[in-house]
Amino acid sequence: MPQKIYSSILPPLQIPNESVFTHLFHSNDPSLVGSFSASLPAYIDASTGTTLTRGQVKQFALELGYGLRTHFGARRGDTALVYSPNSIHWPVVVFGAVAAGLRCTLANSAYNAKELAFQYIDSGAKIVFTTQDGFPVLRQTFQQIGISEAEADERIVILSPSLKWARGPDAPRSSDTAHLLELADLLGKGSLLTEERFDGQDANETVYLCYSSGTTGKPKGVETTHKNIISVLKIVRDFFCPFYLNDKVLAILPFYHIYGAVKILHYPFTQGTPTVIMSKFDPVQFCAAIEKYKINIALVVPPVLVVLARHPAVDQYDLSSLRCLFSGAAPLGAALTKAVNGRLESKRTNGLCLFTLQGYGLTETSPTTHIQPWTGSHKNGSIGLLLPNLEARLVVDDNGEIDAEEGKPGELWLRGPSVMKGYLNRPDATKDAITPDKWFKTGDIAIRDHEGYFYIVDRRKELIKYNGFQVPPAELESVLLAHPDIADAAVIGVESVKQATELPRAYVVHARPEEVKLESQKQAFSQHVKMWIQEKVARHKFLRGGVIIVDVIPKSAAGKILRREIRDRAKEELRGR
Ligand code: AMP
Repeated sequence: MPQKIYSSILPPLQIPNESVFTHLFHSNDPSLVGSFSASLPAYIDASTGTTLTRGQVKQFALELGYGLRTHFGARRGDTALVYSPNSIHWPVVVFGAVAAGLRCTLANSAYNAKELAFQYIDSGAKIVFTTQDGFPVLRQTFQQIGISEAEADERIVILSPSLKWARGPDAPRSSDTAHLLELADLLGKGSLLTEERFDGQDANETVYLCYSSGTTGKPKGVETTHKNIISVLKIVRDFFCPFYLNDKVLAILPFYHIYGAVKILHYPFTQGTPTVIMSKFDPVQFCAAIEKYKINIALVVPPVLVVLARHPAVDQYDLSSLRCLFSGAAPLGAALTKAVNGRLESKRTNGLCLFTLQGYGLTETSPTTHIQPWTGSHKNGSIGLLLPNLEARLVVDDNGEIDAEEGKPGELWLRGPSVMKGYLNRPDATKDAITPDKWFKTGDIAIRDHEGYFYIVDRRKELIKYNGFQVPPAELESVLLAHPDIADAAVIGVESVKQATELPRAYVVHARPEEVKLESQKQAFSQHVKMWIQEKVARHKFLRGGVIIVDVIPKSAAGKILRREIRDRAKEELRGR
């Protein structure tokens, strides 16, 4: 059967070739809200109410760009790493670095020193932005890498909690980090006259480096270009729910994941609506912020919707301003959508409908490629329609020669301007992920119905997702194999319907099986293995799905773990629980 290429049924859009900074702040693109007043709020800190206007973001970003050049000698193409939970500093840091022509690599704020060291070295970062809380981990990171304290301190910028942007002479400093440069120290000393340009072909240079394990192996730096970001901002904009001038968007999604970075960090400028920033998810604070700031649109992951469907806080706050809950990063089932809509709408007296919509995408596609349309049928449980300028195939064989028949499943391959340039310094992984004719292999199995709606029905790749965060099995397996009593190991994801997420579950072979013959010995060893992992990885990678002691890990003749077999076994083990 010839290739069956599905083009988006939505009309194509012109994508300008320019830098992200130019696009947001100086673009001639008529569809952009460039005419919005500089005095309108862009970001609001949920806990303090501190506000940054559009004009301030631009001014501080140009000042930071100047500071990075003059203080650090930073140049186009250098990399800055951001290691921080969400805060109102983020837009200034990211757009300041971008204004100076730098790339930003965004690290999970829960990473430990080892995980951070990997990303720091792999991305080639020169400067690190972190908080006072992040500093002790960063100090250990530099120790592990073998960089002296004095040298390390020269590379750090602290995001001071005082939110004092341009430092006055007497601004207080925290004692632990008093000797370090603070963001405020880099501001107010001068300003870039103009941002670094990435016009024409240069728009294909990398701007963000988030980390993804892709279909296999350990995390890799995803080279997301200026063009990728501008493409996705444009193609999503018209098909996302409408934004009105006084709308407010709630940001609980972490900015260090591409979903939060792209959708939320850039929205004040592309959609013209202020973003209310929360540093972490807490059900009560989440509901309180919706009531306080009269939030209209919240971008979430499915476990947040579980909270909205069940948590008592929902009854204690007025959530009637919410018009759209947009879920991504993991599958959202139709039943959960219905439960959330039913619960929230039953409390309303203002007659406003609530739309709980789903999108789909990957770090490698910057991210969003599909959205359930706002108008017309949503087809709950689907990921919606393919966005403009994108093409899709559903491939059934390993060579990419055979496509699925209409309505039948195949691996989703995508092509278009928002597909990453490649994995940083990994030509082989890039070659495995992107074919010579530019198809990116998602590793997800999808079907497409006759009206163009796509459904994700399975995953071909190894990846596990816990609460929307990536858990690469290969990474946990190598930590397990470093244990002296573990002879072999495999990690898979098991579904928790109750929590609307997958949970990582390990199967391990004891090096001396005679020591784990009794049930009590097995239990004790499982517990020990869980602790071993907890000491070595970030929280989202903990083995919440359990540890099972087995005699052997099923493998193919070539030595590849037969994950499908283990997943089926896990399903049996968990049946009826
Ligand atoms: P990430 O790169 O961390 O965004 O992870 C991308 C992966 O998350 C995809 O390849 C899917 O496996 C999964 N994913 C994202 N959105 C959805 C969705 N709406 N439904 C099902 N899986 C999803």
